[in-house]
Amino acid sequence: MRHADLRKQIIQTALQLNTTGLSAGSSGNVSARVEDEGFLITPSGVKYHKLRAKDIVLVDFDGGVRGRLAPSSEWRLHLDIYKQRPEAKAIVHAHPPYATALACLNKGIPAFHYMVAAAGGKDIRCCRYELFGTQELSDAVREALQGRRACLMGHHGLVAFGDDLEKAMSLAVEVEVLAQQYQLVLQMGEPKLLSDAEMDDVLHRFLSYGDNAQKAKD
Ligand code: 13P
Ligand code: ZN
Repeated sequence: MRHADLRKQIIQTALQLNTTGLSAGSSGNVSARVEDEGFLITPSGVKYHKLRAKDIVLVDFDGGVRGRLAPSSEWRLHLDIYKQRPEAKAIVHAHPPYATALACLNKGIPAFHYMVAAAGGKDIRCCRYELFGTQELSDAVREALQGRRACLMGHHGLVAFGDDLEKAMSLAVEVEVLAQQYQLVLQMGEPKLLSDAEMDDVLHRFLSYGDNAQKAKD
């Protein structure tokens, strides 16, 4: 995809962070991989409704920056995910209320519902707290993302990645919905968690689930 189109898509996705309630103001950030070049990312601290295509910053795989504004303070976290996870084509980071509430208790989301497997595994982990914008935070996130496409971030929020911006955003929304459902369940009692075998079945089923969505796009 051309840079210009990707820049527009990044802004549309960033605006969705506000309209879906996933992030208020300018918290969170959005990026998309540009093959062989690096990635395009939202600038630091700019309200999403003020973003113009020229404000989106290109960061190369050595951390070199091309743009008139400074990239998101979390550019290291995005860079490390793109380097370590070749399947990651787009990343969404946000501070949604329910996921962040769990993360403030350093709690991840266990297999209370089968959709937890949407993040790629049998639970959604929460990484330890580290200062925003640091290599330490990136390292903590990398550990929590092992075998997963999303995790919660201690006392901070969530991060999700996918094949494209739409998928990264959908997963971020899904994790927030799961966090909300989990908190509702906890108010009513102690949920029985799905077993390893039950989650294995779900993960297996997910390998073919969604084929129709892809065909409808083609
Ligand atoms: P930026 O505005 O620098 O992207 O920071 C927002 C954020 O969520 C930091 O974790
Ligand atoms: Zn953040």
